[in-house]
Amino acid sequence: MNYIIFDLEWNQPTEEATAIREPFYLPGEIIEIGAAKLDEHFHVIDTLRVYSKPQHYKKMHKRIASLTGIHDRLLEEQGLPFPEAYRKFIDWCGEKYAFMTWSMSDLPTLIDNMALHGIDISGLPDWYDLQRIFGREIMRGTVKYSLEYAMEVLGESGDAAHDAMNDSVNTAKICDHLDLEEYLDEYASRVFAELPNDRSFDSQQTVLQDPELLRFSCPWCGKAVACEGWIHDWKQNYVSYGQDEDGDEFYVTLSVSRLCDGTFRAKRIFQEMSDDLWEQYQDKKEALEV
Ligand SMILES: [Zn+2]
Repeated sequence: MNYIIFDLEWNQPTEEATAIREPFYLPGEIIEIGAAKLDEHFHVIDTLRVYSKPQHYKKMHKRIASLTGIHDRLLEEQGLPFPEAYRKFIDWCGEKYAFMTWSMSDLPTLIDNMALHGIDISGLPDWYDLQRIFGREIMRGTVKYSLEYAMEVLGESGDAAHDAMNDSVNTAKICDHLDLEEYLDEYASRVFAELPNDRSFDSQQTVLQDPELLRFSCPWCGKAVACEGWIHDWKQNYVSYGQDEDGDEFYVTLSVSRLCDGTFRAKRIFQEMSDDLWEQYQDKKEALEV
């Protein structure tokens, strides 16, 4: 079993008004996949960097170019079309692998880009959120810390941030401080994505009250999963808990985007409920009641 730590960089439309909305709203197009491969003892055995040439947001956004150091010419010379870049990445992952990332925030962008190119999103592997594991095992809470902060706490020095490969290698250094062989199993959780859709909402309130967004079919048994009301997580992100009559349980996240025309879009991701996700959900719920 390989553990694949990866990080993504993506480009944005130079002007919000030019963001593509068909077949769905696309906030970011992937330009770089950086990854570190760990063996079953969590030692880094290989690294990978793949550039992808954007098809929609071809001109690099100034802020992103200066943040990542990725410029038009680099992508012109080294960027592969996304399906090829993705294939290269997945082939490199090996036969059996699980994903590890620092936070789950790159996940919606990955799903969007896969869906945009017709890549199957139904077979995502087990997924470990190292930000969550670090928070619980080292900081003993459910607060989210930045990778930079975690490195500092652990006395690690890293390579420059905002480079997908460096960030992956830096994240791998955190693993040395976590007893993953002992407790990784506790954090196992499957992730399920649904295809992005083009439903438009006229306010944040209508998103949060939409009954369709509070139900879905269980990916295991197909039965109806009913969710509790959305609880605010951070920025425009919300969480909920869903359960079906067979007792299958899910931790559901919803991210809401406001487009420049004032309309809203919503994106959901389901995770298999685990003990620590349950605790995280309860924490948020209690915080709301105080
Ligand atoms: Zn079920």
